[in-house]
Amino acid sequence: MKSMNYYDLLEAFKLTGCPLCRLLNKDADHFLDTLLYEFVADPMIQAEFRKSRGLCNVHAWGLTQQRGGNVGVAILAQAVLDDAIAVLNSASGRKTASPLTRLFGQQSEGSLLAERLEAGERCMCCVALDAHEARYVETLAAASEEERFKEAYAASSGLCLPHFRRLLKVVDQAEARQNLIDIQTAIWQALSAELELFRYKVDPRWTGDPMGAEANSWLRTTEVIAGASSVFPSQRE
Ligand SMILES: [Zn+2]
Ligand SMILES: [Zn+2]
Repeated sequence: MKSMNYYDLLEAFKLTGCPLCRLLNKDADHFLDTLLYEFVADPMIQAEFRKSRGLCNVHAWGLTQQRGGNVGVAILAQAVLDDAIAVLNSASGRKTASPLTRLFGQQSEGSLLAERLEAGERCMCCVALDAHEARYVETLAAASEEERFKEAYAASSGLCLPHFRRLLKVVDQAEARQNLIDIQTAIWQALSAELELFRYKVDPRWTGDPMGAEANSWLRTTEVIAGASSVFPSQRE
């Protein structure tokens, strides 16, 4: 029997853009919505939220976008803020230098304090999405030789580069891998041709057909190389 993931993926192939990015953005929304409406008062979730110093940048802002989430955000954010205040208070309450300060000097005291303010766990939404993503990639890999799957894939916008890399890592069979490479290459070649056409048509000297679907090829290619907005973290620490 096919898993729900399999049918979700087949459906997602019909949408524009990377199907995995689409599903993960939907999963993130669902996670944040559930967090706000079912778990805000749960002491276990609150403890986890404190440990990770809230959510990562992307999901913290995603939480503020949930409808009517202001009170839930206030409760969760206050728990994190109060912890940070407690850490600062414990530091300023120290009259004498700690043995570590004597050993390493003042700068080290600042670094130690900064470390205590750091997250002890990863963002709970990111952790949940990693698990979802791994299941989607496994499902894709398992289906990679099926005709129905190959047709849906070939007719789609294909995977983004980060997700295609993840898929390649789990497909062991050479023939299945070659199928995926062939499909993905054809999709990217068509996109590259659209970019080429777009660049011709924006030239004021162009006298051919008016701009068509290639008008947003630059946006679609950005998604291909970087993944959809909010799906992958920034590389800034
Ligand atoms: Zn993707
Ligand atoms: Zn996150």
